[in-house]
Amino acid sequence: MSEVGDYWLSDEGLAIRASEFARFLTVRTFNNALQMFGREAGVKGFLYRTMLDNRVCDFCSPYEARHYRAGQFMKFLPQHFLCRCGYDILVEEYTWGIF
Ligand SMILES: [Zn+2]
Repeated sequence: MSEVGDYWLSDEGLAIRASEFARFLTVRTFNNALQMFGREAGVKGFLYRTMLDNRVCDFCSPYEARHYRAGQFMKFLPQHFLCRCGYDILVEEYTWGIF
């Protein structure tokens, strides 16, 4: 096995993978609940947000500031391992840049 493969099977590697998996499930569950119950709580929409730094990946960067109405299909978050993206919750109708 390669050194990289050995690392991810080491105690430290397994701990990191388990931690990230737990974070992944927590973020995904939270975002699914937002999508399912947000409209009932008065949420009008969501705004996709990246961290706006040089670590944002090519996969996530096109979604920055993308607007979704409540109930509309939207990207599940996190989109990938170690994704740091999130949704801003909009409680008023969204018109580009004006709340
Ligand atoms: Zn992301």
